[in-house]
Amino acid sequence: KSHFLQDSDSERVRVTVRARPFMKVEEGHENEIPVVFVNPVKSTVTVRRKGSFVDYTEFKFDAVLGDSATQADVYQVAAQPIVLDVLEGYNGTIMAYGQTGAGKTYTLSDVVINETNGSRVEGIIPRSAANIFEYAANDKSHEYHISMSYIQIYMETIQDLLNPETSNLQIREGEDGGIFIAGVHEIEVRSLEDVVTLLMLGDCNRQCAFTKLNAHSSRSHAIVIITVEKKTVHSLDTRNCADRRRTSKGILVGKLFLVDLAGSERLKKSGSEGLRATEAMSVNMSLTALGKCISARADPTVTHVPFRDSKLTRLLQESLGGNTKTSLIINIAPCCDYIQETLSSLKFGIRAM
Ligand code: ADP
Ligand code: MG
Repeated sequence: KSHFLQDSDSERVRVTVRARPFMKVEEGHENEIPVVFVNPVKSTVTVRRKGSFVDYTEFKFDAVLGDSATQADVYQVAAQPIVLDVLEGYNGTIMAYGQTGAGKTYTLSDVVINETNGSRVEGIIPRSAANIFEYAANDKSHEYHISMSYIQIYMETIQDLLNPETSNLQIREGEDGGIFIAGVHEIEVRSLEDVVTLLMLGDCNRQCAFTKLNAHSSRSHAIVIITVEKKTVHSLDTRNCADRRRTSKGILVGKLFLVDLAGSERLKKSGSEGLRATEAMSVNMSLTALGKCISARADPTVTHVPFRDSKLTRLLQESLGGNTKTSLIINIAPCCDYIQETLSSLKFGIRAM
């Protein structure tokens, strides 16, 4: 039984909004005038037009988290139910959408280690990994094999961030209908430390590649894929469950996609030339395709879902369609300078529901 949604809701993407706090540099000037109001109790976000008390729009989501929400809160609301499903052999996707600087990477990948007491504050990816390893350690009736890949999609090409020698990897469909990236490194991970090390290695490769190109990593989608394979140790598990994928050897496989989407901001017209313009078009195209595929899922009258419109949606096809779980986090900044981008991100979230 899925942990994530009630039966009637199982097709739906669950949308959580997270508004980050003001940063130090943003404090103390006009930019700080409140225009975005979050109400975690009512799960609403109200956006007020600058200088106006009457001109406002209210949006309602599955969950809304304000600047006092901790990383643990976000994990519990937007990630944990999906991770538990992955441990049961389902596919699941957790993705962060929003303009550059809104808090996507912080929400997904941040790892802060307190040097004095060794405690850690961390985002969804390390928390998911910790949850998976803990669960596996406590489950004596299954043997687990956990592996991780880390890729990015930049201008419609897939790069392996754990093996930067390769480039332009291809998406293939297996005989069982499963989607996979041909030739991608899938590295076995045995602990949270392994995952954090690979994350850092991948980030490093990503930064290097972008520095060489004189480009910015916010123009690419970064995707961590954690695969959990489990095999019954004692008796053979013969329960029939169609949604879960079993290999011929009776191994249950769940895949968790953790997606740090490219910045959703529109390029200012003045700066749109050459590489920057091509990058922006590519990001825009794939985020539009993502929006279409997610909305199609929420609308039973749609018969054709355009998964093949972009590499991103093609890769996520299995996790965006059908009875798999998707959690969309809309990251927003509180500043009034960003109000147009914030509105556009909130609208993306509304269309997904
Ligand atoms: P994005 O990945 O969307 O471009 P980042 O995650 O890099 O944005 O966030 C931008 C800045 O804001 C970073 O310095 C990050 O540490 C900080 N930040 C984002 N969200 C939060 C939060 N909830 N609490 C504290 N700092 C945050
Ligand atoms: Mg980022």
